Amino acid sequence: MKKSNHVQLNFERSIRVPHNRLTFGEEEVQAVADVVSSGQWAGGPRLAELEKALAERAQVTYAVGVASGLGALRLALKGLGVKPGDEVIVPAYSCVALANALMALGAKPIPVDVCDSNWNLDPESARLAITSRTRALVLVNTFGAAAPIADLQDLNIPLIEDCAHGFGLQIDGSIMGGRGDAAVLSFCATKLMGAGEGGAVLTNKRDLDEFVHAWRDYGDQPPDPTRLNEKMNDLEAALAICQLRRLDSMLIARKKAALYYSKCLAPEAKRTGAFRLPQSSENQVWYRYVIEMTSASASIVIERLRRRGIHAECPVTDWRSDDAAQCPTADRAYDRLVSLPLYPTLQPGEQQMVCEALSAVVQELSYA
Ligand SMILES: *Cc1c(COP(=O)(O)O)cnc(C)c1O
Repeated sequence: MKKSNHVQLNFERSIRVPHNRLTFGEEEVQAVADVVSSGQWAGGPRLAELEKALAERAQVTYAVGVASGLGALRLALKGLGVKPGDEVIVPAYSCVALANALMALGAKPIPVDVCDSNWNLDPESARLAITSRTRALVLVNTFGAAAPIADLQDLNIPLIEDCAHGFGLQIDGSIMGGRGDAAVLSFCATKLMGAGEGGAVLTNKRDLDEFVHAWRDYGDQPPDPTRLNEKMNDLEAALAICQLRRLDSMLIARKKAALYYSKCLAPEAKRTGAFRLPQSSENQVWYRYVIEMTSASASIVIERLRRRGIHAECPVTDWRSDDAAQCPTADRAYDRLVSLPLYPTLQPGEQQMVCEALSAVVQELSYA
């Protein structure tokens, strides 16, 4: 075994509180076993069943399951008419999947600054970035906070709501999915619903539904560099169906854990001024619990938390090119945000360990 593997293994063993943990039970085990023994591992009935359940849950007319969140974004953008050379506005602080989906279509991501209240796209900055080449706009419900879709609906530009962090979110009575022209989901193992991998496009537009259905497969079609294999299989669909049934109870458990953090951490945040807690609002689900360090950089805090067995993470990695426009709030977010462990099975005792470790790290840094 190479030395680096040893270090890695020792490191993993010393983790007392992991950053993510899946929530599952006998239902998931049984659902996968049923698909395996049915002999229909792909192209079977589970995918259609999942699509129906997703559409019902999001109160949209159509849902199409695909291989990943990135695939869902790429096909939604392509289906809404994004072509080579087009510009698409995206939050400067966001998952690199947005940039990759656009670049795969030959389009150009235009990063626009975010707000420091909840790290979502700043609608005013988005308006200022619009040019004659702007073909669409992607909004993300960052960490589970509602993206400002209503503020941009008058633009007459296709809006895509990336709900990888926000499935289950309900805003002023309307559920996510129906607010923009399309919404996309990810079922990657670390998201709100895990299925191993997978994603979905939700829409009320029949032509977009037909487009994504036709383009998730390449079989019997002429060669095309943008026609990839974006199919979701029945094993993933079976898992996603179980996770969808659990979604409400998982969201309640996440919220409970988030409120517990806020209660434990508020006195320390106030006393030291070393970090800022996330804003809590009605229009949100708790995908991540992210604190902003006031003066320390996130990477130092994360490294020191890990030494104490707490697996915190830098929630998003900067993907912007050097020539991208100035986005001071996004710059700060990339530098200062720390994501603490948050998932439905997180125990109060584990949260206590996280809070104590953070308090110790803050004290260490104040003497440094
Ligand atoms: C994870 C993520 C994606 C990509 O989803 P995959 O299923 O990993 O391809 C897209 N957008 C956001 C905001 C994400 O967090």
